[in-house]
Amino acid sequence: MASAEIGVIGGSGFYSLIEGAEERLVETPYGPPSDVVTLGVVAGRAVAFLPRHGRHHDLPPHGINYRANIYALKALGCTRILGPCAAGSLQPHVRPGDLVICDQYVDRTSARRDTFYDGPVIAHVSMAEPYCPTLRAGAIETARRLEWRLHERGTVVVIQGPRFSTKSESRWFRAQGWEVINMTQYPECALARELELCYVNLSLITDYDVGVEGDPTAAPVTAQEVLVKFRENTARLRELILRMMPAIPAERTCLCATALRHARVG
Ligand SMILES: [Zn+2]
Repeated sequence: MASAEIGVIGGSGFYSLIEGAEERLVETPYGPPSDVVTLGVVAGRAVAFLPRHGRHHDLPPHGINYRANIYALKALGCTRILGPCAAGSLQPHVRPGDLVICDQYVDRTSARRDTFYDGPVIAHVSMAEPYCPTLRAGAIETARRLEWRLHERGTVVVIQGPRFSTKSESRWFRAQGWEVINMTQYPECALARELELCYVNLSLITDYDVGVEGDPTAAPVTAQEVLVKFRENTARLRELILRMMPAIPAERTCLCATALRHARVG
């Protein structure tokens, strides 16, 4: 029997949302997830919460076992995953404190374990529309109601990290028209699709990336500043997640639910 239907992969500020919390150690064929999973009820829905970087924030973006995290949530019965994260802005009109519900990503990571299909089973899932349209619509509607400064679409470029970008890299990304920069959206999002899970990204903008011209704060961002800004806005993200939970339909009619139907080879 399923223990949860909605998974949240996010920062540690989310523990306080969960009623009747129970911790579960989940083993997977891919090794251990980032931490124990906290199970409980949020707004009447059975939820599983997993801190992406571990509860003590001791896993760097390139050291996260993304496969174990996604597999663990699937094993607990989750069909939906909400993925809030801190992110930088590549465009002047996307300001610190804004929320971007990304609809595309560009992968600039390297050497991450980013598929469940290493053989003998092979699958090529479509990633044309990487984010769940139903969850995106729910997040947009909820953010509008909360009067959040919102961007209803955006492309996130995912860099390998843990270092930040050079000015030239950042200008290059900006020149492509991409809006958001982050270190964890890939392969989290793609792995969810490979297991036919719905996934939505909630990118909270903490700073301007280093190459954004017209940046009023001339000094490059520091990791400390990003964390402080993210913590300031955690309460708002929590409220967004709390409010969007009840509106998530029980039945799935989106493309995510059947992503493997024509994807397997052999
Ligand atoms: Zn979906």
